[in-house]
Amino acid sequence: TNTPVTVTVTGAAGKIAYSLLFRLASGLVFGPGTPVRLRLLDIPSAVVAAEGVAMEIEDCALPLVDSIEITDDVTAAFDGANAAFLVGARPRGKGMERADLLTANGAIFREQGRAINDHAAADIRVVVVGNPANTNAYIAHRHAPDVPAGRFTALMRLDHNRALSQLATRLGARVSELDGVVVWGNHSATQFPDVTYLTRGGEPVTAGLDPEWLADTFIPRVAGRGAEIIAVRGSSSAASAAGAAVDQMRDWVRGTSGESWTTVALPSGGEYGTVPDVVTGLPCRSRGGEWEVVEGLEIGEFQRARIDASVAELVSERDAVRALGLA
Ligand code: NDP
Repeated sequence: TNTPVTVTVTGAAGKIAYSLLFRLASGLVFGPGTPVRLRLLDIPSAVVAAEGVAMEIEDCALPLVDSIEITDDVTAAFDGANAAFLVGARPRGKGMERADLLTANGAIFREQGRAINDHAAADIRVVVVGNPANTNAYIAHRHAPDVPAGRFTALMRLDHNRALSQLATRLGARVSELDGVVVWGNHSATQFPDVTYLTRGGEPVTAGLDPEWLADTFIPRVAGRGAEIIAVRGSSSAASAAGAAVDQMRDWVRGTSGESWTTVALPSGGEYGTVPDVVTGLPCRSRGGEWEVVEGLEIGEFQRARIDASVAELVSERDAVRALGLA
């Protein structure tokens, strides 16, 4: 067998982690030959519940589990980490203003960014799930100056997967036949799920999609899917969020296939007129263990306006975080 990978999951007692941890322990991300050392971080009041999750992982008797450690100590949690899923975040409480939310999360992600900078392994890969995910990733990245910017990503793969699934249903296709989707901008209501480059079995299909359906049904449905799940299921999405986090880390570690791309939110290099350093959704391929932004796509007027609007929201979140002295 290979050397074990050390994987840190924060918010380990929460709903998303409850789906995520078992998939990690089953080898879905690092492959069937790679044992995992699991590090479960949560806040002190949740550590006992995290121990309960660890007991269940033990009871699965999974052959790839090398060890499980539960901690409320941020430094210990990231020590030697090769991969980190930052799931734990402060949820928006009743009457909480955006600045309160940014302050609470800013403190969490600043501390974790610093711990990653000082203690994680040189090949650390970070996927931020906890909301506001893009800006939380930005904060962590800003506090980890020794870690390459591209190692800090936020999760927009769930938005991407939601878009793929809606399109497959509309076209009567399988998800596996579709390619060329990208979700630009922020993991928020302003996100822009873009079908301009959509192909089915390698053939362009966008011309056959009704523009009214795209603008009035598809885009709002994908962007509002989280609220729809809460309304129907009575609880926020958890398994699908965990599944998307697995997809993102697996593709990052093991590569995307051929010319296919996916959506990753990462600190922008200014591609496609986005603002450098804000963490925005971009079309990416994974090659040699690194994300590469797909180059040379043509951007039309409709796309320009939507991308700019969502990036403007990210810039305002960044400015709010800066004004609070958090990044
Ligand atoms: P979940 O596990 O359901 O969600 C965790 C985070 O993921 C939330 O910020 C949530 O945002 C976000 N998220 C991102 N995408 C999605 C999606 N598609 N659907 C649902 N959520 C999404 O939250 P729980 O409350 O069950 O668990 C949170 C855990 O985090 C608790 O155990 C808590 O103690 C812990 N925590 C840990 C911290 C730490 O490790 N330092 C800090 C703070 C909390 P949103 O709320 O906007 O839906």
